[in-house]
Amino acid sequence: MRRIRSYHEKARNILNDWTRKISLEIVRLAKELRYAISREDLTNLIRSLRKLPKDHKRKLIIMGYSRFERWIDWQAEKNSVPYVKVDPNGTSSECPRCDYRGLEEVGYRRLRCPRCGFEADRDVIGKLNVRKRGLRKLGIYPRGGALTPLTAPQMTDVAPNR
Ligand SMILES: [Zn+2]
Repeated sequence: MRRIRSYHEKARNILNDWTRKISLEIVRLAKELRYAISREDLTNLIRSLRKLPKDHKRKLIIMGYSRFERWIDWQAEKNSVPYVKVDPNGTSSECPRCDYRGLEEVGYRRLRCPRCGFEADRDVIGKLNVRKRGLRKLGIYPRGGALTPLTAPQMTDVAPNR
């Protein structure tokens, strides 16, 4: 029993350490590059996970998510990096270019928009949508559309402290 407990404690410490390091690294990079941070609001996901029967693994996952959220926000605030929380609903089924909902699967983890033809990996699409929603929340509408790279001249105008 004692051995199991110390194993669980070890797993928790490793997880804590990682969440701290990763969130620090993200905020550090954002500060250096003068980027804002856009993240999915995981409150509902965490809430629904909490309703499920609890085993050790699930407890760790819940703890990991909520700690990660708190660390990111806290570090961002401390370093004056702008950050936004966006609605996570449909981030992997919406077209990041034209907002069409209902992307079609065209291969292993690959999705395609039947309206505008945009095609990418599911994870890439998820990230592009989190970015797009974050930009909108910050009131930034790139002239070339939601997929305009951050290096485009009109984007540098909005970066703070430049
Ligand atoms: Zn589209």
